[in-house]
Amino acid sequence: MADDADVIVVGGGLAGLVAATEIADSGKRVIVVDQEGEQNLGGQAFWSFGGLFLVNSPEQRRLGIKDSHDLALQDWMGTAGFDRDDDHWPKRWAEAYVAFAAGEKREWLRAMGHRIFPVVGWAERGGYDAMGHGNSVPRFHVTWGTGPGIVEPFERRAREAQSIGRLTFRFRHRVDALVMTNGKIEGVGGAVLEPDTIERGKSSSRMVVGDFTLRAPAVIVASGGIGGNHDLVRQNWPKRLGEPPRHMISGVPEHVDGRMIGITEAAGARLINRDRMWHYVEGIWNWNPIWPRHGIRILPGPSSMWFDATGKRLPAPLFPGSDTLGQLHYIMGTGYDYSWFILTQSIIKKEFALSGSEQNPDLTGKSWRMTIKRATNKGAPAPVEAFKEKGADFIVRDNLAELVSAMNALSGDNLLVLEHIKAQIEARDREIANPYVKDAQVMNIHKARRYIGDKLIRTASPHRILDPGHGPLIAVKLNILTRKTLGGFETDLDSRVFGADGQIIQGLYAAGEAAGFGGGGMHGYRSLEGTFLGGCLFSGRNAGRAAAKAAG
Ligand SMILES: Cc1cc2nc3c(=O)[nH]c(=O)nc-3n(C[C@H](O)[C@H](O)[C@H](O)COP(=O)(O)OP(=O)(O)OC[C@H]3O[C@@H](n4cnc5c(N)ncnc54)[C@H](O)[C@@H]3O)c2cc1C
Repeated sequence: MADDADVIVVGGGLAGLVAATEIADSGKRVIVVDQEGEQNLGGQAFWSFGGLFLVNSPEQRRLGIKDSHDLALQDWMGTAGFDRDDDHWPKRWAEAYVAFAAGEKREWLRAMGHRIFPVVGWAERGGYDAMGHGNSVPRFHVTWGTGPGIVEPFERRAREAQSIGRLTFRFRHRVDALVMTNGKIEGVGGAVLEPDTIERGKSSSRMVVGDFTLRAPAVIVASGGIGGNHDLVRQNWPKRLGEPPRHMISGVPEHVDGRMIGITEAAGARLINRDRMWHYVEGIWNWNPIWPRHGIRILPGPSSMWFDATGKRLPAPLFPGSDTLGQLHYIMGTGYDYSWFILTQSIIKKEFALSGSEQNPDLTGKSWRMTIKRATNKGAPAPVEAFKEKGADFIVRDNLAELVSAMNALSGDNLLVLEHIKAQIEARDREIANPYVKDAQVMNIHKARRYIGDKLIRTASPHRILDPGHGPLIAVKLNILTRKTLGGFETDLDSRVFGADGQIIQGLYAAGEAAGFGGGGMHGYRSLEGTFLGGCLFSGRNAGRAAAKAAG
């Protein structure tokens, strides 16, 4: 039987789009199959903040940040903590990826029209030693246009290829099986789902109206991770992070269901590091949800005080923005799956950013006029103010006694004792004006303000939390928010998938989150942030180029 294409790509997210456009540009025929409708093209990346890990960029240099490939590699390895036999390919991918981020990544994107917001963010700051977790310097480069801005160049290239017949989309086609003969890929088969015009990101119908088989000598699995499937997240939850949370909210749409990962594994692909995941601890219920259990991550600046469910301040260095999995480990160790920020109006106004394209209309809409208000506005950005007013996790009060009493009422656990919280805040407040400060979080605030980017838009000027002039007081109940899958299919640097027997499966490739962003887990245990979209770009590109080359 004749092939329908040279390569089939499963998934029209960022990784799939990058792979498909590379294939089409090399003159080969490619089909992109996606279970969702056309309105969903771009997958998770559309919703993303568009943050990219870049090393020694012109944006960093303009802000006086001295970065280098060696420093980034040191940070990456300290963060990844590779320690398994299975880490052979993940480590090689990590080395190749850091070289990409310090090399051609920015120019490759720029040539396609991609642009970057000039203030570089500083995520995952660590707080251990030089070889430990964290970014030694700010490296989080936000795409001008956020998530849609990173999808746009690849969608444009894909549409061009579609118009000349090299690329075909098959939307509402759900792959249920890989077609294989004698261990060699021959195509995919599955169900045709009924058309559904539901809004992007919302759960679409799963009503089956037919079936299909598509034939090609190569298939790239770019089907995303498992974050929308809480049962799978709990099943894979590592013992080292304690018991799986009873309550979680979803940082990803429902199509991030992990189903294709099971299908590909059942076909013989080797899935490694499935216990490595990247979930956030600063999740808040979206008052205006798009997908089921929709949660938003707060990207916090350094000043909010962080308390566990019992009212104990999180220990150093677990301050906002330091070590996501360290915080998750600590919080799960308390026996409760939530924690609290206490802050002031002055802090929320300058320091709260919300991750996601729809929460940042200024950057997403590429409006300089609106964006400039981040530095000059009297209030918090409108989406943050909306959460403060309407979000189920936000409490605003003029005095601490009322705040704590409302916090107890919201959690229903009644664990917080006013005097205990008050003593800790007052102790921290005494350090604020002390130039010899011993409080590590206050030291971090002073350090952050030495960086012009933080001083401009991310760090409030130091003040006492209990100073009414900076009020009202605000408490935010923080939930565990599922997001990324760090493990995946073991692949070589050409994104070819290994089978359970350790041999390459002929014709099978994996990219993006399904491949642990390359190799089966190039992040190791943790991420430096902005590395997921970049991981889709790099692994999608490698997969597309290799599959096109193999097609002759
Ligand atoms: C709100 C938000 C903010 C984020 N911010 C950032 C950020 O700032 N920086 C960063 O680096 N990362 C960020 N991320 C993470 C990043 O966006 C994702 O990790 C990345 O986009 C995943 O891309 P992917 O192509 O691997 O998978 P996906 O985007 O999940 O795409 C997979 C596609 O495969 C399809 N599919 C799945 N199974 C099947 C099947 N059986 N048959 C057919 N089709 C199937 C799905 O419908 C989907 O369209 C963010 C994510 C979110 C949700």
